[in-house]
Amino acid sequence: MVRGSPHPPYGTVSVIKILAATALLCAIPSSLFGFVPVNRWTSTATDGLTGNNGDPVTLTWGLTPDGTSIIGETDSSNLVSFLDGIYGTAPGLISNRPWFSLVEMSFNRWSELSGITFQYEPEDDRAAQGVGAPGGLAVRPDIRIGGVSIDGNSGTLAYANFPNGGDIVFDTSDGFYNNTTSNSLRIRNVLMHEVGHSIGLGHIESNNANFLLEPSISTTFDGPQYDDIRGIQHLYGDALEKTNNGAGNGTSALATDLGSLTAGQTRSIGTDTGSGTLVLPSETDFVSIANQSDIDFYSFQIDEPSVIDLTLTPVGATFNQVVQGGSEQTEFVTSQISNLSLTLIDSNGSVVLSSANANPAGIAETILGFELATPGEYFVRITGGDNAVQFYELDLRASAIAPVLLGDYNGDQVVDAADYTLWRDTLGQTGTNLAADGNGDNLIDAADYDIWKLNFGNVLETPSAAVVVANVPEPGTLLVALLGFLSLVWLGKKSGPPRAQEQACF
Ligand SMILES: [Zn+2]
Repeated sequence: MVRGSPHPPYGTVSVIKILAATALLCAIPSSLFGFVPVNRWTSTATDGLTGNNGDPVTLTWGLTPDGTSIIGETDSSNLVSFLDGIYGTAPGLISNRPWFSLVEMSFNRWSELSGITFQYEPEDDRAAQGVGAPGGLAVRPDIRIGGVSIDGNSGTLAYANFPNGGDIVFDTSDGFYNNTTSNSLRIRNVLMHEVGHSIGLGHIESNNANFLLEPSISTTFDGPQYDDIRGIQHLYGDALEKTNNGAGNGTSALATDLGSLTAGQTRSIGTDTGSGTLVLPSETDFVSIANQSDIDFYSFQIDEPSVIDLTLTPVGATFNQVVQGGSEQTEFVTSQISNLSLTLIDSNGSVVLSSANANPAGIAETILGFELATPGEYFVRITGGDNAVQFYELDLRASAIAPVLLGDYNGDQVVDAADYTLWRDTLGQTGTNLAADGNGDNLIDAADYDIWKLNFGNVLETPSAAVVVANVPEPGTLLVALLGFLSLVWLGKKSGPPRAQEQACF
């Protein structure tokens, strides 16, 4: 994500009206979230009864056949022929139409950003479109899209019902849609906006950022923007909540696998949430803790003993926002919405190895330098302390375990008199992580002197030190040379053994 530009003037501005929204929106306390969560789907054709906020859902969508009546409208739907007129037609199934992919990608964009799984439902029984005709598998979609002439050219472009209705009506007398530049951004942004209503989001307004759920359509961006994504993840969780057949990643057994880490490697998730509000259509990596009930588990593997660094950073932009028609814009610092906690868990999936929750909301939690002596699988658990959605980035880094040289109290990789001096100068001190506390009992005493004495003269053996030793075998080389010279007398050309011995030094 890159930072959003200042609020630009809209190109062609048209009001998108929504049905039955006003009464609901008046009851929404706008300062809680920023976005406006009207309500989520509680029953769908695929799932039956669905869960609570933050839980995933499967929704079907489809095109209402031309000639089907639309509740509240005089005319019957003519959307298919309207789109055929712009893009051309094709025989057979609706999905063969040249414009079908534009509709499909608009639903799929919301799907890849959230816990919603959208599925195309080709069947439609031509029941009147609108509230009172709920979705049914192989009967009709949860979300049906039709179109009629609403108010002629300009004005209203489309409208939609909130859950559990969700049906969408386009104004098929609007010339706005004849402009198909930028892969038909106009019709796609209108459709994605209406789908935002269909899945439960109300209108918002911002005086310093651009969002898809603002009441006037903009073509300065493509699809759901940062706050729109926050809204949908508040209602249905992030895209990982629909993994494991909808069971999500809330336990160690269902953890999202981040793969194997070797020394020097890193893994990151949630990397597309930057500090700005503009979201590019290519960005998909947004993860969040939806509420106090949400738990996200990740797993990783190490193939050798390693030191692991974990950093959990709450991320998000700062912007002004108000419910449509509200009088005062409120600043939302969306990196400080919920106080996140970070926990490192052992291979059995339950024993806590380390946890971090000291910092307030908005500040990263870290577990740094934690030594994992046993190769295997480990888990990271993330939770939130507040009942609102918080985006985050999780970064893992593995490094090799540094070798330990007992008695090397000043860390210069040799046990010598300087270490004794350090021991003597700090004798009697107590506390954690004392340099000359050789036995780790938080006290500098005679036992630490004994450790120094026992290891006096030792040098830390590192790969670089071994190379040095191998490069300076002067006495041995002289001896080899002498043996080689002598062997000319005794063994003719047979000078192999000394050369083999020299190679062994490396
Ligand atoms: Zn709208």
